[in-house]
Formats: sequence, structure tokens, C-alpha cells
Amino acid sequence: MKCATACCARKGRIAIGLVACALVALGCLWYATNSQAEPAKDEVAPKLAALPIQKNLSDSDRPKPRFTREEILARFPREKHEEFMRRAIANSRKAGVEYKTGGAFGAVIVAPDGTVLSDGVNHVVAQNDPTWHGEMHAIRQACALLKSCKLKGCVMYTSSEPCPMCMATAYWADLDGIVYGAVVADSKKYGNFDDAFIYEQLAKPPAERAISGQSLLRPEAVEVWKEYSERTDKVDY
Ligand SMILES: [Zn+2]
Repeated sequence: MKCATACCARKGRIAIGLVACALVALGCLWYATNSQAEPAKDEVAPKLAALPIQKNLSDSDRPKPRFTREEILARFPREKHEEFMRRAIANSRKAGVEYKTGGAFGAVIVAPDGTVLSDGVNHVVAQNDPTWHGEMHAIRQACALLKSCKLKGCVMYTSSEPCPMCMATAYWADLDGIVYGAVVADSKKYGNFDDAFIYEQLAKPPAERAISGQSLLRPEAVEVWKEYSERTDKVDY
């Protein structure tokens, strides 16, 4: 009886030993698997560098802002920026709530010395004009005032992040920077203005857009370009 008890105890110790060995083995396997899934940091960089997008776009190829956000904000004290933005927001209120001329969009253009050159108020509905956005209005007015199609040195303050049309016009006008209040998601949520959809469309080839595009009579159209290129009095913009 005593011998049987000792034998059972020995078998128990062997079993515990086997379980312990199995746990150690499982632990080693887990470590090996996880250390493969998370490579050391110095292994990540070469893998990222091998991706096509990284190959094609070096740091020198990336477009840089002419003026960084910090440089734009450093032009005036914070209170002045807020004063310009509140004026743009007041213009958005005129458009969307007070006079109901269109969506709640408003803007102002500010000269380098802090002078407000123009106010822009959305009139899309009142004027049946899809181009009469607050930013377009402000840009047109400022250009008319300066008698120039360029607004170099100026900053636009707009109550909402610009749509692609106004953004493109800001490029044509050579604005130094844009400061906006609400973002695209806000105008979508509260006004159902889907600027994000247009931004996505512009990234597609013309044939794949919801509004498709194609070339017709290109040689005839190019004839005019040839005559234009020979003009010596043309204004480059
Ligand atoms: Zn716009």
C-alpha cells in the first residue's frame, strides 16, 4: 500500500514535469511567432523604402507650401486672425440665415498690412449662379479693387473649408494662404454640401468621373493656341 502511494506520487511528478515542459515549449513558440510579426524598427524602414510610392516620390519632389501655416499665423496677432475669421463668419450668416442668398458661406480677403480688401457672401440661390460662392465673390472683389488678377501677399479667411472650385481659384489668384472655420465634414453634415465627393472625383481619370470628359476636334482647337502663342502682347497669368 505504501509502495503504491509512492508510485502514484512519482507518476504525478512526471505528469507535472511534462505539463511544465509543454508550457515552456508553447511559450517559446508564441515568442518566435510574435517576434516575427513585429520586426525590429531598423527592419521597417527598408521595407517602406521598397514600396512603389516611396520609390517615385523623393522629399525634393514633394510640393511644399510657399508659406507654412505657422508663417501665415505669424503675420498678425491671434486677435487679428480671429477678427478676420469672425467677419467671414458674419458674412456666412448673411448668406445662409439673414438674407438667405445661398448656403452659409462667407469670406474676406486680407492684404499684407492687415487691411480687409473685400467681403464675400454666397449668392448661389439668389443669383442662380453656381459659381457665386463666398470665396469667389471675395476674390473677384479684391481683384477688381487692386485691378489685378493676382492676390499675391493676401490671405483669404473663409467660414468653411473651400470647395474645389474656390480652392483652384485661390491657386489662380496666387493667394499666400487660406484660413478656414468649419471643415468639409461640417458643411456636409449641416448643409448636405458634399465637397469631399468632388475632391474624390477630381482624383479620377476623366473617363471614370461621374461627369465624364473627352477630347473632340483637338487639331482645330490647337490652331487657336498656336495663334495665341505667337501673340507678343499677351498677359501671362
Ligand atoms: Zn466654393
